[in-house]
Amino acid sequence: MEPQSEAIKTDVLIIGAGPVGLFAAFEAGVIGLTCQIVDTLERIGGQCIELYPDKPIYDIPAIPSCTARELVDRLLEQILPFDVPIHLDQRVESVTQRDDHRWTVTTARGMTFDCAAIMIAAGNGAFVPQRLQLPEAAALEGSDIHYSVARAADFADKEIVVAGGGDSALDWALALKGIARKLTLVHRRNGFSATANSVATMKRAVDAGEMDFVVGMIESLDAPDGKLRGVRIKQVEGATDIAADKIVAMYGLVSELGPIAAWNLDVRGGRIEVDTSNYESSRPGIFAVGDIANYPNKQKLILSGFHEASLGLRKAYSYAYPEKKRVHVHSSYDTKLAERVIAAHAADSA
Ligand SMILES: Cc1cc2nc3c(=O)[nH]c(=O)nc-3n(C[C@H](O)[C@H](O)[C@H](O)COP(=O)(O)OP(=O)(O)OC[C@H]3O[C@@H](n4cnc5c(N)ncnc54)[C@H](O)[C@@H]3O)c2cc1C
Repeated sequence: MEPQSEAIKTDVLIIGAGPVGLFAAFEAGVIGLTCQIVDTLERIGGQCIELYPDKPIYDIPAIPSCTARELVDRLLEQILPFDVPIHLDQRVESVTQRDDHRWTVTTARGMTFDCAAIMIAAGNGAFVPQRLQLPEAAALEGSDIHYSVARAADFADKEIVVAGGGDSALDWALALKGIARKLTLVHRRNGFSATANSVATMKRAVDAGEMDFVVGMIESLDAPDGKLRGVRIKQVEGATDIAADKIVAMYGLVSELGPIAAWNLDVRGGRIEVDTSNYESSRPGIFAVGDIANYPNKQKLILSGFHEASLGLRKAYSYAYPEKKRVHVHSSYDTKLAERVIAAHAADSA
């Protein structure tokens, strides 16, 4: 864990930069709350970007059709007037409530937030890489088994097995083959979910002898002294042993509620139970909106999350400014908002 940073003070900490977390940041700005967003991923957009960026969405009010990526771009444009800090690659871990009722929230990489309210917009939970399901794999994680590549140089002159058949697996196989001593792509079948272009490039590289491709699944690891020496690949008939000192496993992402499950909230079936009058959880001051929230007849739709965030933030306001009475102004009459929007768009197009 990285060293603790000085706490960042904000009215609301929004956990999750999916569509609902992004819209929550807009609503926070509209009603006069400051906010910060954290997300465990390195990209903004939640499911929209991770799972279906180029698919069309037809049920966002007043947008007859847009792709999921376009929706995220529009949401980012909408929050421009509020200059919201978005901290990526930050998985929220722990929460404590202080005597003054404010919250201290920390992330796995050492960021600390001091906030009046917390809005959990964590979708299905944190996306984490799908791991190699072998008992001996955990001890090698980070040293010889990798689920992401931070520095390609660490793989120079290594015997590398890249596992998987999606874009990430093929992209890394193609990127690392030039610096590896030997690179073998292992995939359970001779068909790929990666783009046709990547598949064609990979096949050309195999034909040119720049890398190998083996159909099968990693069955066991040879790591006698805690150091990876090779992998056994189970095939339709028999098995093949390959010398390897690095595995890059790109099996895609799965989601898990993770540390939030230990926050003493009313969690059932991986969802946080909320009061539908304000989307507050069983712990006053912590709200849950979007796919992570549960209540009777909950629909996992983006537009439901937008509504939930909007109502939740109105209650959150009373924690940030208990002495103030918030007066509702329609956005069409909100001159300060209008000025911000015009200024943000002028700056953006300059
Ligand atoms: C293929 C597909 C098509 C869909 N089509 C539609 C559609 O047409 N219309 C529609 O309304 N809905 C659709 N949906 C559903 C829609 O995508 C979800 O309802 C929406 O993404 C929920 O948004 P969210 O912001 O609540 O969560 P998410 O989009 O899941 O985002 C949550 C974010 O929280 C982050 N996070 C989780 N835990 C932590 C943590 N501990 N610390 C930090 N960050 C964390 C995650 O990394 C993630 O980025 C579709 C879903 C799929 C899979």
